[in-house]
Amino acid sequence: MTFEALGLHTSVLKALTEAGYTKPTAVQAQAVPAAIEGRDLMVSSQTGSGKTAAFMLPALHKFASAAEQQPVAAGKTPNQEAQSARSRGDRPRFKAAQPKMLVLTPTRELALQVTNATDKYGSHMKRVKAVSILGGMPYPKQMQLLAKNPEILVATPGRLIDHMESGKIDFSQLQILVLDEADRMLDMGFIDDIEKIVDATPESRQTMLFSATLDGVVGNMAKRITKNPLVIQIAGSATKHENISQRVHFVDDLSHKNRLLDHLLRDVTMDQAVVFTATKRDADTIADRLNIAGFAAAALHGDMHQGARNRTLDGMRRGQVRVLVATDVAARGIDVPAITHVFNYDLPKFPEDYVHRIGRTGRAGRNGIAVSLVNHSEGVNVKRIERFTKQLIPVDVIEGFEPKRSASASRPNNKPGGWKPGDNRGNASKPGQRTFSKPGAPRKDGGGFSKGPRSGEGGARRTYSDR
Ligand code: AMP
Repeated sequence: MTFEALGLHTSVLKALTEAGYTKPTAVQAQAVPAAIEGRDLMVSSQTGSGKTAAFMLPALHKFASAAEQQPVAAGKTPNQEAQSARSRGDRPRFKAAQPKMLVLTPTRELALQVTNATDKYGSHMKRVKAVSILGGMPYPKQMQLLAKNPEILVATPGRLIDHMESGKIDFSQLQILVLDEADRMLDMGFIDDIEKIVDATPESRQTMLFSATLDGVVGNMAKRITKNPLVIQIAGSATKHENISQRVHFVDDLSHKNRLLDHLLRDVTMDQAVVFTATKRDADTIADRLNIAGFAAAALHGDMHQGARNRTLDGMRRGQVRVLVATDVAARGIDVPAITHVFNYDLPKFPEDYVHRIGRTGRAGRNGIAVSLVNHSEGVNVKRIERFTKQLIPVDVIEGFEPKRSASASRPNNKPGGWKPGDNRGNASKPGQRTFSKPGAPRKDGGGFSKGPRSGEGGARRTYSDR
């Protein structure tokens, strides 16, 4: 299968060649032709599968084809109209932006990534402009962007609603609505905002919804907002993360964990790494400690200003930052190809976050390594992750860093989420060294899954403010 065979416009094909893409990924091969036909889509696919291009390429194709058929009348942009009004001595009026496409994303980082990808895929199109409307960005800057009347808006829900309510955006001309990582937007408590935004768009729109899962609440919402959708489920290696070598190291205490992390970060095959922590404070503390230990480390979390977050991510992309120490929400959507390793310093609160975390490495067909540093009492949480991913995570032990407590797993079988005593669990370097304490044993480093509602970063629902 080639991109030409998908029927894409030549200007899009040219950009893809420049991007070095030779063939469509599985989700692109299925989604692009149906989206070009104008069908609504409900797609279950993971980050790293090429989903951004799956919705953006057909949209750009549509805009490029329409521009050819109907050269735009020599109209003025809202900005130009405001200037003419000023020169006529009229009171300038702000005319609401009328985008043709809206992409909703859960986080600012993902929105910026989608906007950058759009610039790349649309680099040979003259009239298409994509802008990000995000919380944390100064309002005057956003007003300037909206005054250019961009064709494509990529936005986080909260800030978008602010602009809609103050009359800065008019969706009457909207043709395409995309919900990217819809499950995550619902987890973050954006359901009411999403419904409000969807209600403000025309019935005639094309709707494409992308989500890690199409079950439960997200599936119901998807059915409500789409019309006769094509349902695409991508269960390929990208979903199973077959290109990512996963392992668990058991640790006795924090000092053992820190020594092991330092040792693993000195791996000569490591290019760049993300270390995930449970709290923002830990992200700062560990980044400071690693810097003192001689690693080029930086923290990334939701308490940092957007400017600082962007600078850190730029440093990561340019290779100046080698180790990013991050919380879940801040790290979502990071797409840096040189990330070879992901470390779970703390296990995530929810098993699905594990999948998103390890998806920061092994992107676009590369290989990656994902290592979880696990307290003895957290064996049960590893088991939950295994049940969720339906994969065993091998336990590894490094000479000189062996945990004091020995393996005492009493797992009924060898299905994911259960170990047989003595089973060698894939690529563990010293099979049989499995260390589990009895359920309920006291924890030393406060890890553990939460059964309550997802908390974003540290507590109440939607603590991550995107306004
Ligand atoms: P996404 O799932 O959209 O975040 O994309 C993951 C990564 O795959 C990004 O770095 C894209 O640039 C890259 N990518 C997307 N489609 C292709 C393709 N057809 N060939 C090669 N790389 C791709």
